[in-house]
Amino acid sequence: MSAAGTRLLLIGPPGAGKGTQASVLSTTFDVPAISTGDIFRHNVAHETPLGLQAKAFMDAGDNVPDSLTNDLITDRLEQADCAGGFLLDGYPRTTDQVRHLDAFLAGHDAAMNAVVQLVADPDVVVERLQKRAIEQGRADDDESVVRHRLEVYQEQTAPLIDLYTTRGLVVAIDGIGEISEVTQRILEGLQTLGVTPA
Ligand code: AMP
Repeated sequence: MSAAGTRLLLIGPPGAGKGTQASVLSTTFDVPAISTGDIFRHNVAHETPLGLQAKAFMDAGDNVPDSLTNDLITDRLEQADCAGGFLLDGYPRTTDQVRHLDAFLAGHDAAMNAVVQLVADPDVVVERLQKRAIEQGRADDDESVVRHRLEVYQEQTAPLIDLYTTRGLVVAIDGIGEISEVTQRILEGLQTLGVTPA
């Protein structure tokens, strides 16, 4: 891993559109989008040992324990395609995970360049996730689980925004609107931090 390259983090409540924007930004910045949720879902679908450990937490809308999640992200970030940068979607989600990521990056003489906070009203995200539950059949998109995921986000993940704000890394973006409009807002926000595509 080199010190050069773009390292971004997307943070926001479930249903704010992180996955959608992650795939667009991954192309724009030519870096892999890494979603811990997608990696967990893949492991659950294939009934791997990791998937078997993660499934109950995911179905309940709880965070998977930090130790499992941190090991998973270390493995992923050490793969060759992350050497020139990456975009994290859904990690870190807890202060313990921030500590882990900080140590990992410091060990590679690297640092995050920016944190994109996607802002979305809870009622809007619940509605969006209900639509996704019908379209994609995700068990954790059931309404009561969604409400719990929002609580977990508020308690465990929202405080990370303050932490990254003190580092001067956060751009807060209104996540409601057409996909291309939101992307445009993100790119303008990143530009204010001097983060631009090559
Ligand atoms: P997501 O696709 O990001 O909404 O994640 C779906 C589920 O995967 C979450 O509700 C958690 O159970 C689990 N998960 C994903 N990322 C993390 C993480 N960084 N830490 C703990 N659990 C996670």
